Order: sequence, then C-alpha cells, then structure tokens
Amino acid sequence: MFLDAPAKQPVVFLDRDGTLNQEIGYIQDTADLKLIPGAAAAVRQLNAASIAVILVTNQTGAARGYYPEQHIRALNTRLEELLQSGDAYLDAVYYCPHLKEGSVPEWSIDCFCRKPAPGMIDRAFAEHPQLDRLRAYVVGDKATDVELARNCKLKAVLVTTGYGHQVLKGTYQWQVEPDFIAQEIRYAIDWILDDLKSNLPA
Ligand SMILES: [Mg+2]
Ligand SMILES: [Zn+2]
Repeated sequence: MFLDAPAKQPVVFLDRDGTLNQEIGYIQDTADLKLIPGAAAAVRQLNAASIAVILVTNQTGAARGYYPEQHIRALNTRLEELLQSGDAYLDAVYYCPHLKEGSVPEWSIDCFCRKPAPGMIDRAFAEHPQLDRLRAYVVGDKATDVELARNCKLKAVLVTTGYGHQVLKGTYQWQVEPDFIAQEIRYAIDWILDDLKSNLPA
C-alpha cells in the first residue's frame, strides 16, 4: 500500500481550432479568434475540479509560410486571454509547428509531435509527472485527435463543432469511433466529469 503517495491528477488534452475556438481556417488577425460558446465555462469546471487542462495543437501556418512562428504564439496568447476573461486557464500549451511537406525549411520536417503522433502528450507527461495517464482524455474535432488518443491509450471525445460533423459523416479525414461524441466542448467536459466519477483511483 502506498498511502502516502500523493494522488495523481487527471488531465484533459484539448485541441484548439474547432474545439475551443471557432474553426475559420488560418487566422491572420488575432482578433478573429473567437471562443465557441461555453468553452470558458467548460475549462473553468475542469480548473475547479483540479483537473489539468493542456492544449495540444497542430499549427502549420508558419511551415506553410502564411505567417511567422511568433504569430502561432500570439494566437495561443489570445486564446488564453479570452479564457482568462471567463476565469478559466490552461495549465500548459503545446503546439506542433511542423509539416513535412511545408514550404519553409525550418518547419518542414517529419516530426514526432504532429498529431496523431504522440510527441506533445508524451512531453506533457514527462514535464508534469503528477499527471495520471490512467485518467486522461483527449477532446478534439478531427479524426487525428481521436487517433492521438488511441496512440497514447487515452479516452477520446469527438466534438461535432469544427470538422467534427464532417468526420462523423465520413466527408473529412476518416471515420473514427471515439468513446463519446459531444455537440460542443461543454458536453464533452460534462461527460468527462461523469466518467471520472465512475473511475475513481483505487
Ligand atoms: Mg481542431
Ligand atoms: Zn511537430
């Protein structure tokens, strides 16, 4: 028995575009990044329950030459500011700027972090050893988000905002079988909170 061991912390890995904020393609003006309704409240619920919230996002705009890498960080900062104005916060932010077939050599590599590869999640667990791999979830709008969860052996929630509806219909990427399908992030988080209640640590 390890009664003195500190309890590990559940974690939700969130996709960005189409999950937390509206999917509108490559965003040039940070002011155009807008939250999906209920997103800040959903993150706030996780914060209140002491569940870690970590952003994991593929961002190929720099690799495609649409904007400098600094703009990816500016967009992530805008997202965090919008969440903070709803009293919600992210515990960590990871992004993959790489694209093998990109046009800017610096970012045009075959990396280990582009979803569905597990690099960002592996790094998160390495950098935050208190996180509980057995109580960890991925929420996203693409088949690649669900595949990421499968590759890391985590539970997957597909939201039907962003590309999610098209993924379900089979008209974008490929069809997948997530553990739960949610109309919006708020319902994804409701399901996760319920699922955690039925999955208490031993
Ligand atoms: Mg997305
Ligand atoms: Zn990468």
